[in-house]
Amino acid sequence: MNIALIAHDNKKDMMVNFAIAYENILKEHNLSATGTTGRRIMEATSLQVKRFQSGPLGGDQQIGAEIATNSMDVVIFLRDPLTPQPHEPDIQALIRLCDVNMIPVATNIATAEILIRALERGDLAWRKYVNKK
Ligand code: PGA
Repeated sequence: MNIALIAHDNKKDMMVNFAIAYENILKEHNLSATGTTGRRIMEATSLQVKRFQSGPLGGDQQIGAEIATNSMDVVIFLRDPLTPQPHEPDIQALIRLCDVNMIPVATNIATAEILIRALERGDLAWRKYVNKK
């Protein structure tokens, strides 16, 4: 599965802890992330992460392009809802495209935990059969 990991600044420690906690599951998949999130995960774990640009510099749009072709199977985007983000339109566009393609997306840690456990159980195996454009 192709998994995208994105965390706003106030959520980066949480994302790192998530990656550490679920490293054994995550290592079985292809991981992509926005620039800083990816760097933080790779510093804290032995996971290999494909890094796009930093979110505010277009990383969300780059991951959005993957979502637009239905190429991402799971998106974990730990958003900070209490801090204004300069790239808010990019964030909205990314989440909208997840809905367009019915891609499982978690925007907070509680749902992220559910998704990763679903992934481990094989509940998301149907994603293997979707048309990647
Ligand atoms: P970052 O981008 O991982 O490069 O900080 C995340 C974001 O703010 O969208």
